[in-house]
Amino acid sequence: MSFFKRLFGKDKPQSDDQVEKKASLDAGLEKSKRSVFNRIAKVFTGRRKIDDDLLEDLEEALMMSDVGVDTTERIIERLRKRAVWEAYVDQNELVKMLREEIAHLLVGDDIESALSNHPPFNVDSVRPENGPAVILVVGVNGVGKTTSIGKLAHRYKSEGKKVVLGAADTFRAAAVEQLKIWGERVGVPVISQGMGADPAAVAFDTLESAKAQGADVVIIDTAGRLHNKVGLMAELTKIKRVMDKIVVGAPHEVWLVIDGSTGQNALVQATQFAQATDITGLIVTKLDGTAKGGAVIAVCDQVKIPVRYIGVGEKMENLQDFNPLDFIDSLLPESLDEK
Ligand code: GDP
Ligand code: GDP
Ligand code: MG
Repeated sequence: MSFFKRLFGKDKPQSDDQVEKKASLDAGLEKSKRSVFNRIAKVFTGRRKIDDDLLEDLEEALMMSDVGVDTTERIIERLRKRAVWEAYVDQNELVKMLREEIAHLLVGDDIESALSNHPPFNVDSVRPENGPAVILVVGVNGVGKTTSIGKLAHRYKSEGKKVVLGAADTFRAAAVEQLKIWGERVGVPVISQGMGADPAAVAFDTLESAKAQGADVVIIDTAGRLHNKVGLMAELTKIKRVMDKIVVGAPHEVWLVIDGSTGQNALVQATQFAQATDITGLIVTKLDGTAKGGAVIAVCDQVKIPVRYIGVGEKMENLQDFNPLDFIDSLLPESLDEK
């Protein structure tokens, strides 16, 4: 029995919560799933033998699915090795092998232990003894930073945590306003000084206020910036330095938001940003409504930073924990008949 069956199998009892989460992941990835899976199904249809022709067609299908050149090559290489002793298989076996090889590529060979070693991110685990956990959110314009912060606030508040947001995107008045609207919607306070204020000063005020209120989690919004804008990257360094004065070790997490609907561009952005500054986690947004979800596989393979969450819609509930195995399972369902 494949490990996917063991992990997700129908014979395995699942809680309502697990079933609901899986259904919502499936729904969010519907477009990517349809295009990736259909492409791959086409390659496998009628084929019974893993030969160079099949691998070549599969390579093309993976590349077209935004999996990217390097990651595609690694997947093909793994399959080529397996092909030696599993030459004759049916379509569903091929799908299974592909799922398994991608899974091994992303989480290593010991899948079971990978699963137990990769629990969803727990914000309490980064929280210092006397102060809130502080998360700084960065990325280029329009990727979904502010929206993701709204969703995170909702999630942590639902877990019973006291959340405070800081409006350190002071570039445009609309940016501060947008975060305030999220604050009201979710029911958490937003600390701001308005447009043009020093973002470091806003961060300072936010942490002071959060500490005074005994908050559990602080999330700081920032203006969009490119990794190569020296002045703006220096501003990030300043924001970090100021925060550390109030809460030891802050920021405890720095999350880069990338727009999953930009496919390979998202991968390039993550790679470059991670070289320019310390990033501890990624949020990949807009995976609903795009067929480019395959890029997440390339991101996991090539950027050695964990994807903390994925965004699958504009509503506050549309943020999901990310687990590479669940993701592969949703993108490439078990058998061809399932589509
Ligand atoms: P920011 O400039 O990085 O702060 O980006 P915003 O949070 O303002 O988001 C830009 C646009 O992307 C907004 O219209 C959001 O509603 C939209 N958006 C953000 N995340 C998602 C997502 O997961 N799915 C979809 N469909 N839209 C999203
Ligand atoms: P500098 O601006 O490069 O000298 O760096 P600092 O570390 O001294 O301060 C960075 C920023 O943090 C300042 O520009 C202020 O906006 C803010 N800041 C520092 N101390 C305080 C403070 O006591 N109150 C407030 N509201 N902001 C502060
Ligand atoms: Mg924003």
